[in-house]
Amino acid sequence: MRFDIITIFPDMFSGPLSQSILGRAQREGIIEIHVHDLRDFTRDPHRTIDDYPYGGGAGMVFKVEPLYKAIRYIKKLVDTPAKIISMSPQGKIFNQDKAKELARNDRIIIICGHYEGIDERIYELFPIEEISIGDYILTGGELPAMIVIDAVSRMIPNVVGNEESLGFESFERGLLDYPHYTRPRVFRGIEVPEVLLSGNHKRIMAWRKRQAVIRTLLRRPELLKTAKLSEDERAIIKDIEKRLGEEVSHERDNKGD
Ligand code: SAM
Repeated sequence: MRFDIITIFPDMFSGPLSQSILGRAQREGIIEIHVHDLRDFTRDPHRTIDDYPYGGGAGMVFKVEPLYKAIRYIKKLVDTPAKIISMSPQGKIFNQDKAKELARNDRIIIICGHYEGIDERIYELFPIEEISIGDYILTGGELPAMIVIDAVSRMIPNVVGNEESLGFESFERGLLDYPHYTRPRVFRGIEVPEVLLSGNHKRIMAWRKRQAVIRTLLRRPELLKTAKLSEDERAIIKDIEKRLGEEVSHERDNKGD
């Protein structure tokens, strides 16, 4: 998988992308990340990439010509066809399904905007998908691009060492992850749940499943509407709803309602 990033702040990427799992994936040649300075595609001595907006108003806008040249140049660097995305608060919200979908590409070109954004005509010149990382405004597209690269790279085989762990992550099947514990067994009087020390794999799996369902029900109930649940998990939800129902009627009885 090859990522090509178009940015006016190329140095922002060196730290975060060269460390940890992404650093190793690059050293092992599983992913390639190439950063391109948009200013290299300008023609004037000041290397101007932005200009005032037509129609007036605050802020500056990325000029279309340097972007056009950058995309054309980068597309031709290798034969592999590239998906082009633009980081934009107006795009479709990024999530785990989108990360999986993007990971099916062999190559992604990412445009990082700044100021008021980029000249709209670039969207008429190339098929570009706008992607947002959430409903808030950041100063630039570099952090969003890093988030997308990180989440997409994790989906590529052999990037994450323990492939097994991927299947249980939050959002994988529409459920949040179960709680995790490690040594020591007791810290400041707080004990690790007994079942996790039992050595009984079946009981542990059942407990984890239940915890994942309870967490999702309490924290992100809307996820359950689209979650791909097993029979067991459906039964757990029914059981919890039944218990809740019993508790509510018990409360009512006690209050004499
Ligand atoms: N005028 C734009 C608007 O209101 O939609 C906001 C521009 S923002 C200040 C500058 C750049 O930061 C954008 O072009 C985009 O690349 C990036 N950006 C800001 N928030 C983002 C978000 N939530 N998701 C993805 N990119 C974002």
